[in-house]
Amino acid sequence: MQSRWWCCRLVAWTWVWSLALLGAWCIPANEVNLLDSRSVIGDLGWVAYPKNGWEEIGEVDEDYAPIHTYQVCRVMEQNQNNWLHTNWILTEGAQRVFIELKFTLRDCNSLPGGVGTCKETFNMVMKESRYIKIDTIAADESFTELDLGDRVMKLNTEVRDLGPLTRKGFYLAFQDLGACIALVSVRVFYKRCPFLVKSLAEFPDTIPGSEASQLVEVVGRCVNNSLPLYEPPRMHCSAEGEWLVPIGKCVCQPGFEEINGSCQVCKVGFYRSLLESVACSKCPPHSAARQMGATTCSCEDAYYKIDSDPPNMACTRPPSAPRNAISNVNETSVFLEWSVPMETGGRKDVRYNILCRRVFPDGRGVEECGPNVRFLPRRMGLSNTSVMVADLQSHTNYSFLLEAVNGVSELAKDHVKQYVSLNVTTNQAAPSPVSVVRKDHTGKSSIALSWAEPDRPNGIILEYEIKYFEKEQDSSYTIIKSKETEMVVEGLKPSSVYIFQVRARTSAGYGAFSRRFEFQTSPYLTATSERAQASIVAVAITLALVLLAVSGFLHLHISILMMCLCLLPNRRCGYSKAKQDPEEEKMHFHNGHIKFPGVRTYIDPLTYEDPNQAVHEFAQEIDVSFISIERIIGAGEFGEVCSGPLRLPGKREMQVAIKTLKAGYTEQQRRDFLWEASIMGQFNHPNIIRLEGVVTKSKPVMIITEYMENGSLDTFLKKNDGQFTVIQLVGMLRGIASGMRYLSDMGYVHRDLAARNILVNSNLVCKVSDFGLSRVLEDDPEAAYTTRGGKIPIRWTAPEAIAYRKFTSASDVWSYGIVMWEVMSYGERPYWEMSNQDVIKAVEENYRLPGPMDCPEALYHLMMDCWQRERNSRPKFDEIVCLLDKLIRNPSSLKKLVNSSHRVSNLLVEHASAEGECNTLSQTVGEWLDSIKMGRYTELFMEGGYSSLETVAQMTSEDLRRVGVNLAGHQKKIITSIQEMRVHMNSTNSTVNI
Ligand code: AMP
Repeated sequence: MQSRWWCCRLVAWTWVWSLALLGAWCIPANEVNLLDSRSVIGDLGWVAYPKNGWEEIGEVDEDYAPIHTYQVCRVMEQNQNNWLHTNWILTEGAQRVFIELKFTLRDCNSLPGGVGTCKETFNMVMKESRYIKIDTIAADESFTELDLGDRVMKLNTEVRDLGPLTRKGFYLAFQDLGACIALVSVRVFYKRCPFLVKSLAEFPDTIPGSEASQLVEVVGRCVNNSLPLYEPPRMHCSAEGEWLVPIGKCVCQPGFEEINGSCQVCKVGFYRSLLESVACSKCPPHSAARQMGATTCSCEDAYYKIDSDPPNMACTRPPSAPRNAISNVNETSVFLEWSVPMETGGRKDVRYNILCRRVFPDGRGVEECGPNVRFLPRRMGLSNTSVMVADLQSHTNYSFLLEAVNGVSELAKDHVKQYVSLNVTTNQAAPSPVSVVRKDHTGKSSIALSWAEPDRPNGIILEYEIKYFEKEQDSSYTIIKSKETEMVVEGLKPSSVYIFQVRARTSAGYGAFSRRFEFQTSPYLTATSERAQASIVAVAITLALVLLAVSGFLHLHISILMMCLCLLPNRRCGYSKAKQDPEEEKMHFHNGHIKFPGVRTYIDPLTYEDPNQAVHEFAQEIDVSFISIERIIGAGEFGEVCSGPLRLPGKREMQVAIKTLKAGYTEQQRRDFLWEASIMGQFNHPNIIRLEGVVTKSKPVMIITEYMENGSLDTFLKKNDGQFTVIQLVGMLRGIASGMRYLSDMGYVHRDLAARNILVNSNLVCKVSDFGLSRVLEDDPEAAYTTRGGKIPIRWTAPEAIAYRKFTSASDVWSYGIVMWEVMSYGERPYWEMSNQDVIKAVEENYRLPGPMDCPEALYHLMMDCWQRERNSRPKFDEIVCLLDKLIRNPSSLKKLVNSSHRVSNLLVEHASAEGECNTLSQTVGEWLDSIKMGRYTELFMEGGYSSLETVAQMTSEDLRRVGVNLAGHQKKIITSIQEMRVHMNSTNSTVNI
């Protein structure tokens, strides 16, 4: 009875519990139930044994769904063994299952009347083929009366796992040995890794392995339109039903992109080619994708792609022809240089090919140059924009075609190749080096040398140069010249080793020096032998003098001299030229500078095998820490030109100009840049820009020169138009002429003398600058190409230099005349906007620039003299300096001015008829109207009877209206010009040819 009461109470409580539980009952997604006592609608059908043990209590939840609860509470009775068997539970392939029990258990202490047989545990048992105890289950919480009173519900949940299972199913059983239990629910489930899409790969529902620590590897399947990237995607399913350790992934296949976990096709105009790229990209320039799902874009017509081009690169096309090609002939070699094509086709892999053809004399066809011609570095696929072509035939015409190609040139079959062509004529080759230099005789202070003619003299050998210096003292050397293939070098130190090198010269220039030969002088003679030798020589010379007096024949002196020398110790007889030939010149160099005799000569840095050596011979290395760059003052060909102070230790701080070589230069550019310093460093004159030194040991490489506050002369004059007195202008011209006189005395031809290459300091002192090879011309924006391929500043250059590159001091004088004109016209552009071709033609036809406005006649005469066709008739620079000095001393000689109206006319003066006359004008009414851009009225003027400038000069505004010039602006322009014309006609006595 009592037991029954307890049972009722138990059920009531569990019912309440069950209601509370149901709301929170939620099964995780990775658990699959095999049995859930609460979800069974009808009878559970579990079997209790004995029948009075476990009993099912039928209850319903709030939704009137049945709740299956089993309870047993035979605590007052001895020897309890009550079993409750479930039905057969299918495992569905799971090898490991979990059993979750929810139950309440009565605390034995809380039972009234003693607890003698009361238990607080029960057993859970399973059976596949036989019974196996799973565990003894105890309650974490048992309830007491007090709990009941407070209506605090204590439901125990216990979970046990079971495995590995080997059969398709099993039974569960609960064994009660005398406890008071209410089994509220029994859930049997297994865990699985649920279906998952990760990184575009699908992983199926997966049942974990039988062991708790086991991971089951699963290979994923790439979703539609996707592919594994590098390796198939994999994941690992743990016993807890969790996906772990993802490896690999899928990506959308080309033509598709990933959007929200699936692969979507690329739209028209977009493409995706690489598995690694994320999204479809817009087609690069000059390509298109006309269909959806494009994996590549196809190139527009005349545009191409090569396999190695990345897919996102624009389609490209072949380059245009190289530009600005120039040639520099050096004997039988030609240096070709060009600029990159205007149109590179959109590619960086532009290369150049050279086609070389020999042109037969008289233009009777051409032939390929053949394998004997050398191309340095090579003929095809040049990446630099220059090439040296060597071993050409001398005095031969060649035609070079330069072609630019790039990666797609091969594909562009229809592309018409574009070449730039250069025609050159080679010179005579310089002689090949002297191969052997022999020592024929040694004295204590002399060495007799002889050598054979070079193997390939390539012309008549005019002389040999013998360079020598004491071994390891090569900063100081001597050069002597000989017309013979032998020479006695004297003035040497005894017992000293000397290095000798010989080179030959023909009209084509010097050949290379021979290799170095080392010879040693004899040791000092002893005092006795010296005396003996001296007496022998004295006797011989006396004898010679007697014979000379007797014979009276000059030609005998050589044989007599021979006699004398044959008596000298160690002297081998047979040397007819035991003494230096009077024609032999001897020059001593120290650090590259000639020491004596007197006149210094410019040394072409080209004669140095190593250009760096030339730089350091002539330019002082300055430590960069002594220089501060303060501001940029100009842009040079090689980089910025800056200014700042130079603080050399022990010297006063001075302001300098700093020419820099921009980063990323080639070795050739560095050489060309420093070339100017090698030249400038040889000059020392107040009208030549002074080199302070170079910075070559750190970057950027720099050339440091004196700072010229007013910059270049042309800009300076334009800025100060009309601001100077004539004497000031002549003073500037005098300075330039003086600098040029110095250069021509040094044997240096400037080739690019122009106002832009003159610098002006704060005292208006003008100094010649811009030195270099003829290459300097190529850097001059004024330089233009001639038909012979070279680049020449046409407007400043003498006709013979344009026509056949005859650059001399006389051609510099021509340029000087143009500079005079620039100065006197305050920086006007010579020949204004005439084309170079027209300038060449006009000069050829003997026309010359007219006198600038207000130009003293004497100066214009000098200009005209500088522009004599016959170059030997032009004044020399020393004559120019002399004349200018005279003019400065006698300013009244500058009073007479040339006709100022020439400026308006823009006409050229015909030189032949203008001999000594600056103011000759030959002009028609039509030309005058053209010159003031009113040419459209010529016919009206003629019809109105104004056919000569004399009649025009009388015209009034009323006359103009009558003729038909109705626009007020035009009337004003013409009247102004007529007034100028009147002034001019009255102010000069010149004859105007009308
Ligand atoms: P360059 O490369 O010699 O033609 O120099 C470019 C420009 O820099 C010139 O046109 C001048 O304006 C300026 N420049 C060059 N050298 C000097 C200097 N020594 N003093 C002042 N300005 C200079």
